[in-house]
Amino acid sequence: MIGLLGFGAIWGAARFFRLPGWLFWTLTVQWWIILVVMTLPRWEDLPEGGTTAELVARETIVGGDPRAWLALGFLTVVVLLYRGLLARVRGLARPTDPEAEAAPQAAFRPVELQRYSRHILLREIGGPGQKRLKAARVLVVGAGGLGSSALLYLAGAGVGTIGVIDDDVVEGSNLQRQVIHTDARIGVPKVFSAEIAMRALNPFIEVRPYNRRFDEASAALVADHDLVLDGSDSFATRHLVNRACVAAGVPLISGAITQWEGQVSLFHPATGAPCYACVFPVEPAPGLVPTCAEAGVAAPLPGIIGGVMAMEAVKWITGAGETLAGRLMIHDALFAETRVIAVKRRAECAVCGGGAGQPAAGAGV
Ligand SMILES: [Zn+2]
Repeated sequence: MIGLLGFGAIWGAARFFRLPGWLFWTLTVQWWIILVVMTLPRWEDLPEGGTTAELVARETIVGGDPRAWLALGFLTVVVLLYRGLLARVRGLARPTDPEAEAAPQAAFRPVELQRYSRHILLREIGGPGQKRLKAARVLVVGAGGLGSSALLYLAGAGVGTIGVIDDDVVEGSNLQRQVIHTDARIGVPKVFSAEIAMRALNPFIEVRPYNRRFDEASAALVADHDLVLDGSDSFATRHLVNRACVAAGVPLISGAITQWEGQVSLFHPATGAPCYACVFPVEPAPGLVPTCAEAGVAAPLPGIIGGVMAMEAVKWITGAGETLAGRLMIHDALFAETRVIAVKRRAECAVCGGGAGQPAAGAGV
């Protein structure tokens, strides 16, 4: 009786104090050893039979028959081994079965629950939000300055599948601000360098590196994701990404920086918000707007703007708060000023308007 109560107490304490699995099993095995050691010699010493009261007393003090505890221990080990074997067989079978592959998306291992506990504590995210993050597929265009912080925070936040597309290799002049890369990885394609850093931060996510330039053929890649973050450094690429996102109906979080100033917005015409071309309709002539390489950029700025992009992604995926859809955030780092302005969908927009019959109702505000 005492023996079973002990197991019950350990189980109850483990549930109540949320003890880790290893501690629960260590305590359980220790209690089992105590029971076997205590009952083994003393049971033999006691006379058989006796009154009911004596039997109850013996059962209570000694803790029962050692053979029963040994049998219980053996049975538990057999059950655990069987469960382990079953899990292994299922794990091996998974890649060939798409349905079985989709199922574990919903379940978190104890180490993952611990990893994401600070998210799960947030009322706006919680367990359901963390599951949405795990099920989400996000494509990040550019593994440069904006990509550095956006990718690391998406990985840390537990976004289940992160695609990253870029055709550059790591250069020494990148490392002042592109902190996802390292000195040792100079010369390595940026997507592979970023993959190493993301996997090192969070081994529970899937990273898909695409070592190529985002072009017309990348539209299919956009359609394969739930959300796109654009941190590329050319207007031509930005417009290309925007067109692919509008065509696929995929929301786009677009960030841009130069020298001391950065801006972010969430473009998604399908929900009434403008697209990138609604706000920036004209592609400036090449050379008119200087790039970071030409004009310079303060080191932490892409970290700030890339962080806001990741923040917007987490909010969009989990449904927390108000996103930057219909709003453009402008951060002036030199004077530490942040403004948020309303941006509206244009009916005559060449990308999302143009007789599509979708007025800009509800956009901006
Ligand atoms: Zn538009």
